[in-house]
Amino acid sequence: MKYTTLGKTGLKVSVVGLGGIPVQRTDKAGAVEIVKACMGQGINYLDTARGYTVSEEYFGEAIKGNRDKWIIATKSMSRTYDAMKADIEISLKNLQTDYIDLYQIHNIKTDEEFETCFGENGAYRALAEAKAEGKIGHIGATAHGLEAFERLIREYEDKIETMMFPYNIVENQADALMKECTEKNIGFIAMKPMAGGNLDDTKLALRYIFNNPDCTIAIPGMGNEEEVLSNTSEEIFQPLSDADKEECVKIRKELGSQFCRRCGYCAPCPQGINIPQNFLMVNYLRKYGLADWAKARYYAMEKTAKDCVGCGTCETRCPYDLPIREMLKKCAADMA
Ligand code: SF4
Ligand code: SF4
Repeated sequence: MKYTTLGKTGLKVSVVGLGGIPVQRTDKAGAVEIVKACMGQGINYLDTARGYTVSEEYFGEAIKGNRDKWIIATKSMSRTYDAMKADIEISLKNLQTDYIDLYQIHNIKTDEEFETCFGENGAYRALAEAKAEGKIGHIGATAHGLEAFERLIREYEDKIETMMFPYNIVENQADALMKECTEKNIGFIAMKPMAGGNLDDTKLALRYIFNNPDCTIAIPGMGNEEEVLSNTSEEIFQPLSDADKEECVKIRKELGSQFCRRCGYCAPCPQGINIPQNFLMVNYLRKYGLADWAKARYYAMEKTAKDCVGCGTCETRCPYDLPIREMLKKCAADMA
């Protein structure tokens, strides 16, 4: 395993971290096995979230007795002071600790969310207070859209110590902003290193990521020992060969016409459909086998794929020329 410093947090982290979505598919005993396998391979960073159902709880159980060997990162979708304050306490309890190393504002997006979150009674104040009280060590943020990424590291660079964003072979749209993170010493955390399960050659996927010096750490979701061993093999640190680069181009071509990168350029849909969110949920269903989890979130959305009237407006805006209407039809069928 290789280790690095997570930007201005100063935390010494393994460059491969444990992503906390797949642990939801196991049970507490399964989580213990995954955590044990990770420790055996030198992984010392785990990422979870209030939104990942039992993930925090399972990890709390799994790291019991080894708290000092882990750097714990979690996150919350709360935007107000009271809600974030409450979530921090729940995370501490779930993770069975009195200290969380990194607490992140989860998937911030709209102007309204930014205003609330960083306003007088916003979530950020609760995080800053918790930091002053020693309940959390550092504050970070996560986003899926380039605009939010840009705002976070330009308008709030004095508040944000880490930035998490999708980065993988087919989602490299944030290259320039990642470079800016390096310049500002903001630790960059690559989420979705396997493109939401769309990349079959996982070693190549990690090799691609670690060939970019602007990526500090990648957090593949791991649900068993086999995945842990694969994601920590020596091969992931090898330089990209010419054949690898050609393969990346091929993968981009293959997935390029079928794969939503969640850039958000297609918005707004006149029918109020959150297009990338629909694709994200169906991806969890298809690739991760999280049917209940994905469907619960899918049906919690006010408008879903079935509300598409086929106007085509979104397709004129998608920089990847995705056949969005066709894809939404398949999405609605899979989610039915
Ligand atoms: S084609 Fe469907 S999803 Fe796209 S903008 Fe029109 S209604 Fe919205
Ligand atoms: S459908 Fe296209 S424009 Fe919309 S988020 Fe996905 S990749 Fe971006």
